[in-house]
Amino acid sequence: MTDTTTPVTPQTADNVGLATGLYREGGKIADAEAPKGPISERWGTRQFEAQLVNPANRRKLTVIIIGSGLAGASAAATLGEAGYRVKSFCYQDSPRRAHSIAAQGGINAAKNYKEDGDSVYRLFYDTVKGGDFRSRESNVYRLAQVSADIIDQCVAQGVPFAREYGGMLDNRSFGGVQVSRTFYARGQTGQQLLIGAYQALERQVAAGTVEMYARHEMLELIVADGRARGAIVRDMVTGEVETHLADAVVLASGGYGNVFYLSTNAMGSNVTATWRAHRKGAYFGNPCYTQIHPTCIPVSGEHQSKLTLMSESLRNDGRIWVPKNREDCEKDPRDIPEEDRDYYLERIYPAFGNLVPRDIASRQAKNVCDEGRGVGPLVGDFRRGVYLDFTDALQRMSNETVADKYGNLLDMYQRITGENPYEVPMRIYPAVHYTMGGLWVDYDLQSNIPGLFVTGEANFSDHGANRLGASALMQGLADGYFVLPNTIRDYLAHGPYPKVPMTHEAVVEARASVDARIAKLLSINGERTVDSFHKELGNIMWEFCGMERSEEGLLKGIDLIRGLRDEFWRNVRVLGSGEEINQSLEKAGRVADFLELGELMCIDALHRRESCGGHFRAESQTEDGEALRNDDDFAYVAAWEFGEEEGHVGRLAPVLHKEDLAYEYVHLKQRSYK
Ligand SMILES: Cc1cc2nc3c(=O)[nH]c(=O)nc-3n(C[C@H](O)[C@H](O)[C@H](O)COP(=O)(O)OP(=O)(O)OC[C@H]3O[C@@H](n4cnc5c(N)ncnc54)[C@H](O)[C@@H]3O)c2cc1C
Repeated sequence: MTDTTTPVTPQTADNVGLATGLYREGGKIADAEAPKGPISERWGTRQFEAQLVNPANRRKLTVIIIGSGLAGASAAATLGEAGYRVKSFCYQDSPRRAHSIAAQGGINAAKNYKEDGDSVYRLFYDTVKGGDFRSRESNVYRLAQVSADIIDQCVAQGVPFAREYGGMLDNRSFGGVQVSRTFYARGQTGQQLLIGAYQALERQVAAGTVEMYARHEMLELIVADGRARGAIVRDMVTGEVETHLADAVVLASGGYGNVFYLSTNAMGSNVTATWRAHRKGAYFGNPCYTQIHPTCIPVSGEHQSKLTLMSESLRNDGRIWVPKNREDCEKDPRDIPEEDRDYYLERIYPAFGNLVPRDIASRQAKNVCDEGRGVGPLVGDFRRGVYLDFTDALQRMSNETVADKYGNLLDMYQRITGENPYEVPMRIYPAVHYTMGGLWVDYDLQSNIPGLFVTGEANFSDHGANRLGASALMQGLADGYFVLPNTIRDYLAHGPYPKVPMTHEAVVEARASVDARIAKLLSINGERTVDSFHKELGNIMWEFCGMERSEEGLLKGIDLIRGLRDEFWRNVRVLGSGEEINQSLEKAGRVADFLELGELMCIDALHRRESCGGHFRAESQTEDGEALRNDDDFAYVAAWEFGEEEGHVGRLAPVLHKEDLAYEYVHLKQRSYK
């Protein structure tokens, strides 16, 4: 193991974002909810201390849940089962179609079925280290503790996890760890888990505790007398705008990777629910932390609107390489002899090899392509692809065994590229995949707006600056099945909060602002499509706030986004009316929010003058090009408070609140996977 801590280039002395008024500094914040004491006892203590709600009173309390993916469906089912009245919203035609269904590779849990040295503590340690020491210890420990319960619950629901010959659940490995703790159902783990959560949700719908509102999009949060009390939603079929009131609101609306236009996320994934809450006062945590996944099918041209993930599980058996010599890059890979191949991850990181964490694997893929050793078609001046090769695995195992483990993934690759991965090495390249940032929440998963809870990928989460593979499903289900039901009851038990009438000023204002925004979007009648704005924003984000960020690039990116946002509000063309199905209108609202979020992401990336996890600042790297953290100045969560007037280019700068991160158990050190 080597520690490489010499910076290549010193940090700039002045904080340019602060100096030029791009943002302002506010007061420090703290997470007051995590109990003190030994870390293994904190969650038990919090559960015990959280007040109870008498079963007879639960049915008098209404909870709105926006989102029915794993995080939202599990929460709705559990709260419904407990006897609360739940209103569940999603924009798809069925909760079954939430983006969670796309998850392929697996879900982590510290069961130690393989007897390979796993434990709750090791999962906790791996996650804190994998997140490059930018997550909260208390939260991560709780996640590791709860992980085993998730598997038991899902097995009881009938989720068909893969099994070994003896009947025990099987495990495989994901990046950043040296044990096998990932439970899986072929390459369809998300789908199977979602069917489990969906069944539990539908059971409550049938029992009458959950009301399901599919094809309804939340467009505004209602904050009355300082508390989250409801949402304004649009029925996407009739166009009717509706007001729903409740005692508490949960946002489980997923991640915002689609700000980059091209990503592995579902086409509809967006930031609107959380951004609207942010505009109403909820802090946005670490918006710049984006996960760029190393194993995706490379971009093939200008026409694409979606990128496809090849699950990280393939790195268990696939080997990643590029030619040693540039001259070989155009050759058929099967004609390149072993001695002319560079298995660069195995070479640079012998301890973890192809299973280094995603941020590291992605950066190294970019590095070898930047050196001119990429493969596949030229994209600009470079070939943007590396090989993911199953040749060794196919010699070690039969085609049938490989197909059993990865069959649907390899078939998917063949259908998209026309190449047979059983015969020719696959080509992969990093793509935007997941967002570690999201609304800031405390240990109770409550935002700084009382009564507003945030779960799953929508919160700023437990993953720090880089999420380990198979940990998103774990976190979404931990939040929904186990954490939120225990913490939201404490909030509800402190009520009842005064009834909010429909005539309340805050309700009227929220409704009016939605009507005005829809009318404005429909009235611009400009010349550019919504998609063209989205695509241009995506290009700016990828270029200046993507895999490598620099002060100069980020300043340029902010400038370009401001200009684009200004043009959007003058020149976007939204056809149709508000009283019908109108996808152009839906997209316009989402892109308008992305145009604001994109700027905040750049400001966050600019202010964080260090590299950590998925956030790589060109100015802050070790001699051998690894991310170089600056713990003295940046060991904190950046929680941003909104500061702007809608649609204006000149803006009030957002306010930065810092939550200091303390490490009592895992000692801060430079990450090394060598
Ligand atoms: C291709 C792919 C593969 C992955 N594989 C894995 C894996 O193997 N293991 C792993 O751990 N993680 C994986 N992930 C990550 C993981 O799938 C997601 O992080 C996780 O499923 C998110 O769940 P969620 O419930 O938070 O959000 P989602 O599943 O995205 O659900 C969001 C919900 O919110 C609703 N919604 C959003 N906005 C609104 C609005 N304004 N109004 C109303 N409803 C709204 C949607 O309708 C939806 O129901 C993968 C991700 C991708 C893209």
